[in-house]
Amino acid sequence: MSIAGRRGRMVLVGWVIGTLGAMVADGALAARRAQPAGDATAAALREQALASDAAWKLLASLTTEVGPRSAGSAGDKRAVEWALAAMKGLGLDDVRSEPVTVPHWVRGENSGEILAPYPQKVLLTALGGSVGTPEEGITGEVVGFPTLEALQAAPEEQVRGRIVYLDRRMERTKDERGYGEGVGIRRDGPATGGKKGALAVLIRSVATGNHRFPHTGTTFYGDAPKVPAAALSVPDADVLQAQLASGKPVRFHLRLTSRALADEPSANVIGEVRGATHPEEIVLLGAHLDSWDLGTGAIDDGAGCAIVLAAAKLIAAQPRRPARTIRVVLYANEEFGLSGARAYAKEHADELPRHVLALEADLGAGKVWGMRALAAPAGRAFLQEVGRDLAPLGIEWLEPAAFGGADLSTLEPAHVPLADLAQDASDYFDYHHTADDTLDKVDPKSLAQVVAAYAVTAWRVADSAVVFGPAPEPPPRR
Ligand SMILES: [Zn+2]
Repeated sequence: MSIAGRRGRMVLVGWVIGTLGAMVADGALAARRAQPAGDATAAALREQALASDAAWKLLASLTTEVGPRSAGSAGDKRAVEWALAAMKGLGLDDVRSEPVTVPHWVRGENSGEILAPYPQKVLLTALGGSVGTPEEGITGEVVGFPTLEALQAAPEEQVRGRIVYLDRRMERTKDERGYGEGVGIRRDGPATGGKKGALAVLIRSVATGNHRFPHTGTTFYGDAPKVPAAALSVPDADVLQAQLASGKPVRFHLRLTSRALADEPSANVIGEVRGATHPEEIVLLGAHLDSWDLGTGAIDDGAGCAIVLAAAKLIAAQPRRPARTIRVVLYANEEFGLSGARAYAKEHADELPRHVLALEADLGAGKVWGMRALAAPAGRAFLQEVGRDLAPLGIEWLEPAAFGGADLSTLEPAHVPLADLAQDASDYFDYHHTADDTLDKVDPKSLAQVVAAYAVTAWRVADSAVVFGPAPEPPPRR
């Protein structure tokens, strides 16, 4: 082929490539032009949240000035005052407390000791709601079971008059699935043992990691005989299990002075960003204000409180108000019976049809990595579109449908649509419900990312006219 011929061809190829390139560029450009650039306010909220330490400061204030705040305690009352002052300080609208009566259980003194075959003190803590032992404590032979199911299947004579020990280990997962599958020994173990005549029930803490802190949490006796119930720290559970595996009889001494006191007044604390054109329509951002008494409730659920407060504050500070109202609800007593969530659903029953969407932050301060929805098709489609404003935060769309936080479960009968902003819970259950639930376990940058996700989602939903409901039947709870 002659040079001229070759040169001619090169020019042709160049032209084709150029033209093709241009066409592709035009196509992409056209496509990008077709896709709106995401919501400008959402983008601003995202950047402002990532650059802000407002949530961190709120959390530091709550864990320093209030600290442990279990239902009915003095800390609970201080928490209500703190939340009212915080909301007023943030400039939220219509800040109020709505009375809620809560049970008041106290942990008392908790101690445990292996007496034989190899005497050792162990670290344990009473399960929430546990009855106490006699003042001097109780002593008995221990019978171990690997799972709740094994205890359920055991003949009564194997259990009667003994101290039951449940050894099931919780799996570490990125979401709360491991907890959902592992919590059964705590929730139902004592009742199952009590029905078979056990003296008491001990469990391996429902926990990941191997810190020597026992993890508390509520147990539900239902109509079963109430027997003392406690959780051992993971390392102490290992020791007890090893002694049981020796095949020698294991004797244990347990002393709990836990007891229920009279109910106490508490409150749900509520504040809003009033909507500009449709104030009667509500986007609910929830978290629970109470915590267990062992730590300062930083990850459970101080982080959640700080997240929804900071997100609302950022939206209130925008040049323009959203069309709909954003309502922050800090619930009373989530840990020990959902008193606040029940009271809210009852008190606001007539408003629930105008609850456009509800979200709850109750899984620490780990980064959000996904979004789920439980909504009608139009709502799901809109939230998938909001995914574009969340994508820069590394958040993807997830299935199955959302199941909401525990406090939102009382909204299900009214088919209130829900969205989950799924947080990374990989190490949440290392500290969950322990004395180690403290501020230093929270990463300020991660906390800020969660605020960004909540602010963007709440803004987009509150500033839309989309109908998200009614929610379809929720998926089975984990
Ligand atoms: Zn919680």
